[in-house]
Amino acid sequence: MATADVLKPDFATRRKHFIFTDDHEQLRDSIRRFAIKELQPHAEEWEETTFPDWVFERMGELGFLGLDKPVEYGGQGGDYYTSLVLAEELVHAHCGGLGMGIAVQTDMTIPPVLKFGTEEQKQEWAVPAIAGKKILCLGITEPDAGSDVSGIKTRAVYDEANDEYVINGSKTFITNGHRAHAIVLVTKTDPDAGYDGFTLLLVPMDSPGVIREKRLQKLGMHASDTALLAFQDVRVPATAVLGQVGKGFYHIMWELQGERLIGAAASVAGAQQVFDRTLTYAKERTAFGRPIGRFQAIRHKFAEMATKIETARQMVYTTAWRFEHGEYPVREITMAKLYAARIAVEVADECIQIHGGNGYMKEYGIERSWRDLRLNRIGAGSDEIMLEVIGRSYGL
Ligand SMILES: Cc1cc2nc3c(=O)[nH]c(=O)nc-3n(C[C@H](O)[C@H](O)[C@H](O)COP(=O)(O)OP(=O)(O)OC[C@H]3O[C@@H](n4cnc5c(N)ncnc54)[C@H](O)[C@@H]3O)c2cc1C
Repeated sequence: MATADVLKPDFATRRKHFIFTDDHEQLRDSIRRFAIKELQPHAEEWEETTFPDWVFERMGELGFLGLDKPVEYGGQGGDYYTSLVLAEELVHAHCGGLGMGIAVQTDMTIPPVLKFGTEEQKQEWAVPAIAGKKILCLGITEPDAGSDVSGIKTRAVYDEANDEYVINGSKTFITNGHRAHAIVLVTKTDPDAGYDGFTLLLVPMDSPGVIREKRLQKLGMHASDTALLAFQDVRVPATAVLGQVGKGFYHIMWELQGERLIGAAASVAGAQQVFDRTLTYAKERTAFGRPIGRFQAIRHKFAEMATKIETARQMVYTTAWRFEHGEYPVREITMAKLYAARIAVEVADECIQIHGGNGYMKEYGIERSWRDLRLNRIGAGSDEIMLEVIGRSYGL
């Protein structure tokens, strides 16, 4: 056989995944440049102070908050994959809390307003949110009910005389809760109607009776603001109902699918980033006269991590492809969310191990990746709830 015919493995292959076009790659490039140039230099400061509101305005100006949103509402009219690109590239800000705060806007609150909202609601909230001029938050979780959404107690009572709803209750762990202009609020409107007794309300956060209580201190995601909120006789007009009265539970379950898929994409991107940084470290750090990456024990850790990251990525991309083509693939989204969140935490943990003592030091930022990624096994539905959804989807 002539030398020219010998086929050698190409480990440097960089062909993009088939769901992405050249346009997606250009977008990827510009978001990455933006994150590195305009966000990353502030990451350390924002860990202490939370990221500032101008990030929303700047990203709105650049069109990044409406990549997959309709042009008539100020969006870019792109496909769902553009949203994946944003979630993936924002990891280059090195600021997990920022990525989460932005995702609440782009993938958790604007979508239900566009999907279920009236034209007035879209104009009032979605348009300025896409432009980065208004900030939104999502209120599902309460002090006494998180996984069990049907167990929430926040009540909205219809006052027929005034054609208003009167809201009483509280919400906790609310991302963007301190800075938001409005909240997509899950309420109970008919306690006797089971799953048909919930209603979503779009509540301006400056309404009398909305109290922004504590700024909660967290293990990770320090750059995001996380609020405990109280609602005391808050009155909103009946026009604040988002979607159908009594169908809020189904509406929020729909919302959670987008939240979980984008969370899975962010988990994969976070895992890849901490892997890449650790790979560089393992090639430079020496022990017993050689780079630590040349020990088989360490090499195999990288092999395991890379295989898991790639598996999770394929799950996310294939599920996104189904989503983009009009399917409602709840089982696959749930699997992708569960698996990506788990492996991201495993990867970050191994990366701390590979860094040795330096992995435990703040200076290297690896411990921060672990702290930030740890949330993904809890937020948007815990691992245990994901397993319940998957298990039940088989009729069990
Ligand atoms: C930083 C952060 C940001 C967040 N942002 C938001 C936000 O913006 N908006 C919002 O609404 N919420 C937000 N959340 C809330 C998050 O979605 C919930 O914490 C999550 O859904 C879990 O609910 P919980 O904390 O009440 O835990 P619980 O429901 O009390 O669960 C406690 C444990 O019991 C397990 N468990 C519960 N039910 C079952 C079951 N049926 N089978 C087996 N195990 C079970 C859980 O898996 C978990 O391990 C945020 C949370 C955090 C930490």
